[in-house]
Amino acid sequence: MRIIRFLMDYYLDDPYQIARRENLVIVLAHFFLLIFFLVFNIPVLIYFDVFSIIFYIAMRALIETRKILLYEILTYSQVLVFMTIGSVFLGNRAGFFFYTMILMPLTFFLNYAFRRDNIRSFHPISVSLGLLVIGLAVSSYMDVHKPIIKEVSIVLILLYSLNVIFAFIGIAYYMMMFLEMTKKYEGIWASRAETDNLTRIGNRYFLDTKIHNLFENNEVEKSWIAMLDIDDFKKFNDTYGHDCGDYVLRRVSYIIKETCHGCTVGRWGGEEFLIIGSEPEDDPKKIMETVRNNIYKENFIYEKQIMHVTVTIGAARYEDGDTVESWIKMADSKNYEGKNQGKNCVIL
Ligand code: GH3
Ligand code: MG
Ligand code: MG
Repeated sequence: MRIIRFLMDYYLDDPYQIARRENLVIVLAHFFLLIFFLVFNIPVLIYFDVFSIIFYIAMRALIETRKILLYEILTYSQVLVFMTIGSVFLGNRAGFFFYTMILMPLTFFLNYAFRRDNIRSFHPISVSLGLLVIGLAVSSYMDVHKPIIKEVSIVLILLYSLNVIFAFIGIAYYMMMFLEMTKKYEGIWASRAETDNLTRIGNRYFLDTKIHNLFENNEVEKSWIAMLDIDDFKKFNDTYGHDCGDYVLRRVSYIIKETCHGCTVGRWGGEEFLIIGSEPEDDPKKIMETVRNNIYKENFIYEKQIMHVTVTIGAARYEDGDTVESWIKMADSKNYEGKNQGKNCVIL
């Protein structure tokens, strides 16, 4: 069970880990084939299979010494030699040609995975064309020449099935790796695009998307937004330095988030935060008063200095006919009103 889970774990970040996995899969495939060749007693292929297993186990050294491109070149060469020997000895009907096909998705996948780590890799189109030419050359040659071993057809039928199954699993596996890796990185980039690097809460893009979604999903009727601006923030930067300003921003973000559990919270820009909530769960006046008060009573301690921070909040319920812009403008103007009334207050 562990080996299946290990083989099916698509989330591989490290190219060396990818190569190790590839190495293990090939060794296992050669073990299967070895059993087959032993059962049906096909000497040349038994020798070549034993050689291949030893070859791949020894090749681990190349992965561990980070000679990954050389490792891949030797792997591709071995597969092509194996395909050629198999075809020459048993003919096209044994289905060794399919091994060239596994190498195709592998080439594209390796190119993608290696490039992310700035490791040189094969050019996928050129390699695919090369595989096609070699594969076709061998199979055409065997179309006009008789195989060296005249095997009974049951062996060929079984071998053909085995090779097709291996090829199918190999292709599906690398396509799946591609899919899962793309999905994973899409998720990572999407979350980075929406996160403010300093405070680790949502950024303006994230907030913008949320507000537009409220309109699109007809959830805007009971919604409200609040623009929170730190009072006299410049003085923290000017008095204690920019790092202190950053600390205040992080701490304020944390308090807002902790206080407004059900709401969406993000950094609108600079020292301004936007909170989105919906009634009746979140009463804007009550919850914003709590936020204001929690920040007001907090001791902000920066390099042993105790500081006090206040914020002014302008909140606006959605009004019929509002657009995204007019709604935000309303919250902004309420905030402005609060600043004019002496700051440290909530205006709705
Ligand atoms: P008011 O009470 O009227 O809001 O005054 P204020 O000082 O808070 O507002 P003002 O717009 O004058 O200053 C905001 C300052 O925030 C200016 C800018 O340098 C600083 N700032 C913006 N982004 C960051 C940041 O990411 N980190 C730090 N440390 N400061 C920032
Ligand atoms: Mg401001
Ligand atoms: Mg301010």
